[in-house]
Amino acid sequence: MVTLPHEAEPDAFNPWLRVTSLIEEAGHLLGLDEGMITRIVTPERILEVAVPVRMDNGEIHMFPGWRIQHDSSRGPGKGGIRFHPSVSVDEIAALSADMSIKCAVVNIPYGGAKGGVKVDPSLLSHAELERLTRRYAFAIAPMIGPDRDIPAPDINTDPQVMSWIMDTVSMLRGHNLPGVVTGKPLAIGGTLGHAGATSLGVTICTVALLNRLGRPPEGERVVIQGYGKVGAPLVKLLSQRGMKVVGLADVHGAIHVPEGIDYEKMSAHFDEAKSIMGYPGGEEVHAEELFALPSDIAIPAALGGVITEEVASSMSATMMVEAANGPTTGEGAAVLASRNVPVVPDVLANAGGVVASYFEWAQDLQGFMWEPELFHQRLEKTMHDAFDAVWIRHEQLGVPLRDTALVVGVERIAEATELRGLFP
Ligand code: GLU
Repeated sequence: MVTLPHEAEPDAFNPWLRVTSLIEEAGHLLGLDEGMITRIVTPERILEVAVPVRMDNGEIHMFPGWRIQHDSSRGPGKGGIRFHPSVSVDEIAALSADMSIKCAVVNIPYGGAKGGVKVDPSLLSHAELERLTRRYAFAIAPMIGPDRDIPAPDINTDPQVMSWIMDTVSMLRGHNLPGVVTGKPLAIGGTLGHAGATSLGVTICTVALLNRLGRPPEGERVVIQGYGKVGAPLVKLLSQRGMKVVGLADVHGAIHVPEGIDYEKMSAHFDEAKSIMGYPGGEEVHAEELFALPSDIAIPAALGGVITEEVASSMSATMMVEAANGPTTGEGAAVLASRNVPVVPDVLANAGGVVASYFEWAQDLQGFMWEPELFHQRLEKTMHDAFDAVWIRHEQLGVPLRDTALVVGVERIAEATELRGLFP
């Protein structure tokens, strides 16, 4: 068993313990020996950094940060960087392991990594955010690179933050290095299609599951938690496929719109109000009630650990698609399994983002940008192939989709690890 410094309260949801138990279960289902399971679970490299930032008022504030490379048997580390007050070493370790599994499930040549800084970026000015980003990029620079570990956006980080990281590392190395991060703006080696790719992947998985269940998408009622980088495009993509988004939540609260949200009106409202609250015709409801609203499909698209035993027990939807990373606790997953609610797990459902990152990185390495059609065609094929591979295995094994996805991912990592052998 791998031990990390556990910051969480003993009873609080610990994402690291959750993901390690999932990998261990998958390893046992595959009949792997304990040594191999421990090798796969254990992060390869954990870097903890202190990020000093001179604030606009002249004071110096310190922020802790991490970059963790979980597994590199299938390729360089890949995974986002998040800026959030709840960031901890356990959370980043868990998310790095999720990335190893995710990249293996969609069969792209990467291992898993993740980074983060414990900070509330909403309290920083633009200039403070830039200084924090550059100092953090400098601190993790020895560990990252196009053939080593490639960061990307995650919660509260965006193409601007990626630009600063790309610039900082390029300055340090003395030459332009667009392939060191993905999710960059188009002008400096980003790719058309990266923005919204996670949401497109979630949509593909939602429609694929509906197809497998023999349910036409038209009229299916959806509730979505989150109206950010992933949630906002989802409202549009699902509506365009005939589904009705009847419940929506953001950091300010939740609304119920039984006739379905008009995505254009919501987008216009949000641009003005900077919140979904106050959307014309939306009935305000308690945020905790969102998943209990009458609905068919539940999509958590915000933070982790939100689908607890209680939320799962009162969930109205009869299927769930995880757009967020790690949204479901072990107890929540057990309740959904006992209620026969199929769940497309995060490592499959939200993999569209990292697949888009892979395409961006491949274009940067080649110095040759693709037509948008090629990008979308390849993204759709990769997601469909991954969904089908997991579904077919799910029917063979007869275990929930989450456990099946873990089996598919762990099996591919184990194969690479076995083939490469143990150095020295
Ligand atoms: N942050 C995204 C994820 O959790 C994307 C990671 C990446 O593109 O490297 O999958």
